[in-house]
Amino acid sequence: MSKRVFNFNPGPAILPEDVLQKAAQAVVEFNNLGMGILEISHRSKDFEAVITDAEAKVRKILGLPDTYHVLFLQGGASMQFGMVPMNLLKGGKADYVHTGEWAKKAIKEAKLFGTVNVAATSEDKNFNYIPDKFNFSADAQYVHVTSNETIGGIQWTQFPQTGNVPMIVDMSSDIFSRRLDYGRFAMIYAGAQKNAGPAGVTLVIIRKDLVEAAADNVTTMLSYKTHAKEKSLYNTPPCFSIYVVKLVLDWIEARGGLAAVEAANEKKAKAIYDAFDGDFYRGTANPKDRSKMNITFRLPSEALEEQFIAEAKKAGFVGLKGHRSVGGCRASVYNAFPVEGAEKLVGFMKEFRKKS
Ligand code: PMP
Repeated sequence: MSKRVFNFNPGPAILPEDVLQKAAQAVVEFNNLGMGILEISHRSKDFEAVITDAEAKVRKILGLPDTYHVLFLQGGASMQFGMVPMNLLKGGKADYVHTGEWAKKAIKEAKLFGTVNVAATSEDKNFNYIPDKFNFSADAQYVHVTSNETIGGIQWTQFPQTGNVPMIVDMSSDIFSRRLDYGRFAMIYAGAQKNAGPAGVTLVIIRKDLVEAAADNVTTMLSYKTHAKEKSLYNTPPCFSIYVVKLVLDWIEARGGLAAVEAANEKKAKAIYDAFDGDFYRGTANPKDRSKMNITFRLPSEALEEQFIAEAKKAGFVGLKGHRSVGGCRASVYNAFPVEGAEKLVGFMKEFRKKS
């Protein structure tokens, strides 16, 4: 294998090397079956053990009580933008907090199924902060928030109090990255391809009472009831992606769970944010709402940004280009990204500044 780069890709993103090795082996030979993981039945005992273990590990790592379903679905987090209102809005009203590109997409879909009240937005400052004042509706079916805006580089630390109204969180870009009281969320969903595994599987964690009360007139494959009843095996699930998620969860446990992962994430983010000087490297997010996963910044000119990204790439730091919709630079430092890589990037940033 060629030397691994420092991979700052925003998603699909870096995975632990140990996970990649195990997954590669399993493709060729799984459990001494004379077949690989891609070739076995999703109804086999061997695959059942994989999905059962993956589910148990999600519950254990997040500390979830028995009152939740843990589902492995397809269609990406983008499909959840539609499935959430299709199942849970029931023609009523929902509160959405509008924090950027991803929240916007969730809002667009919800409007197809009922009334959306934008309970707060940071649009006035180009989505560079997380709002702290909310205009929640007493009769909302749910409140929807995006825990980490992957493009804007802002992240919730204090989630809002929503009383009896269920809180639904798009955790696509920061699931498994930190300790939180996960039991206070009624539903969490996440495309796996950043912190949890490969593309192709979407994690849906949903309180059982929400599924029971969900709409009935929903097409079978888009109904939470179907997938909850059949334990993610109504049809053929993304077997390989689920297997790799299980390997990632093993890796999280072996590192010492969320406490250890969180400590490393804090260290990486601090190293890079500390390299900002407000002049040459300028952070785009309000300091108190800075994401520990996606670190967004600008240089004095677009030409310098281009040069920075190109030279970084030559030096082995890949994926630092900001999202095409906002430009600039972005260092995505998901769980599997090593602390050493963040420290080395800081060294590169200092050198680049000196000679520019
Ligand atoms: N929400 C967030 C916060 C994301 O970062 C992304 C993907 N980058 C999505 C939703 C969409 O995910 P998917 O590509 O799995 O549909």
